[in-house]
Amino acid sequence: MYMRLCPDYNLKDIYEIDLDELKSKGVKLILFDLDSTLMVSKSGKYLPKTIEWLNRVKQDFKIAVVSNNPRVEYISKVRAMSDFDVLGSCAKPDTKVAKKYISDCGFDVNECAIVGDRPLTDILCGKRLGCITILVGSINAQNEGLPTRFVRWLERLTIKK
Ligand SMILES: [Mg+2]
Repeated sequence: MYMRLCPDYNLKDIYEIDLDELKSKGVKLILFDLDSTLMVSKSGKYLPKTIEWLNRVKQDFKIAVVSNNPRVEYISKVRAMSDFDVLGSCAKPDTKVAKKYISDCGFDVNECAIVGDRPLTDILCGKRLGCITILVGSINAQNEGLPTRFVRWLERLTIKK
């Protein structure tokens, strides 16, 4: 369990992802978690800086969102403002939805990276799939309250070697 949860990369936020390195490792598809990873949790909108960064990512990779959020209305709203696939109700760490999406796109799991802020859902899902796993801090870290920060700290104990 210990080792299984250790991500390939442990970064401050999405902007620290080394796109050239992923490219050199043969990554073609990047799956992103939504809440706290690409968007301030439940805000339902991308920050301008994030849109700019995603546009750069899209030049070299196919990208998609795999969210556990089950709210159809919320996911539809996000889908409408995104020019890439947005999947809700993914039930990570379960791999079924992500696995089907990867194969429907015609990619192999080793051409895929998964990015998220939660070890027990996003990273575990990626490990089970056999993808490259990238743990990122919350996109809104500086504005999160003490309880949220405490839970993040606790959860990250599981990835300490
Ligand atoms: Mg998240």
